Amino acid sequence: MAGLGHDEYRGEQIFKWIWQKNVQDFSRMTNISKQLREYLNSTHTIKGLESQRIQQEDINAQKYLFRLEQGDYIESVFIREGKRRTICVSSQVGCPLGCKFCATGLLDFKRNLFAHEIADQVRAISEAVGEKCTNVVFMGMGEPLLNTGEVIKALLIMSSPLGLCVGRRHTTVSTVGLIEGMEFFLKSPVKVKLAISINFADEEMRKDFMPVTRSNPLREILQLARVYSKGKEMITFEYVMIKGINDRIRDAMNLIRLLKGIPSKINLIPYNEHPRLPYEAPTEKNLRAFYERLLNSRHTVVIRKSRGQKILAGCGQLSGSMTEQ
Ligand code: SF4
Repeated sequence: MAGLGHDEYRGEQIFKWIWQKNVQDFSRMTNISKQLREYLNSTHTIKGLESQRIQQEDINAQKYLFRLEQGDYIESVFIREGKRRTICVSSQVGCPLGCKFCATGLLDFKRNLFAHEIADQVRAISEAVGEKCTNVVFMGMGEPLLNTGEVIKALLIMSSPLGLCVGRRHTTVSTVGLIEGMEFFLKSPVKVKLAISINFADEEMRKDFMPVTRSNPLREILQLARVYSKGKEMITFEYVMIKGINDRIRDAMNLIRLLKGIPSKINLIPYNEHPRLPYEAPTEKNLRAFYERLLNSRHTVVIRKSRGQKILAGCGQLSGSMTEQ
């Protein structure tokens, strides 16, 4: 607005109409002069994301399919749990990292999302369910730290009191542990919770299942995790447990050794099976035994059962399946 010769606060007013009041028509922005509204209507359009399809596991777990302007598709997930209204957002169309156990990795990588496309998933879903989003997790399609610039801009929109008002402490960015992206994030003034999807304590096995480990060795990832955990926020490690692959007691002991000295929380996530992938969820017995072994360490350990598996909306299950229906 300043560039157009108007007071800067006009920009804030428009920002608030779009992001907070869900208004996509300049004519309805009543605190702006009629003349300016008419000018903006003749020169600009506002176009938010519209969901193409919604799948519902139950009232508390929904998956949304959005079509982007260039014709690409992304999926996002809404979870209602107690007082929490969590939206799991995508940061890329597809993912180039090809982790073996992840359905998103099967898709062709098309492009990074723009900041407005990331933040708009939160606005559009909150509007569709008619409830304010309380928590955001970057665990949808893509690796957010391959798109740090746009992710940081999206975080600013999400956390702004003029925008979506989602507290930064209620926002988690989950990464496979990209050194460069983590360093960038650590220096950024935008402080949100960081979760590292560690999954394998054995470097060779991790290289096999998560090829990104070849250029981002565990040792360096953990060094940065140590730096991060010296700040106010405790770092979270996610460990997706896969039957017969990384669910043995010796894997738990290796994990304890690996994370020694890093104050952290460990989220154990039983693998969410996908029809196109050969991997299975661990047995309840192995899950409990693994969990109890970790409890004997000094970490906080939580078993996280994903919601929305039946509609392929759980962690690692987003594969654009709704585009095929
Ligand atoms: S786990 Fe994350 S980084 Fe790996 S392929 Fe899936 S979306 Fe990409």
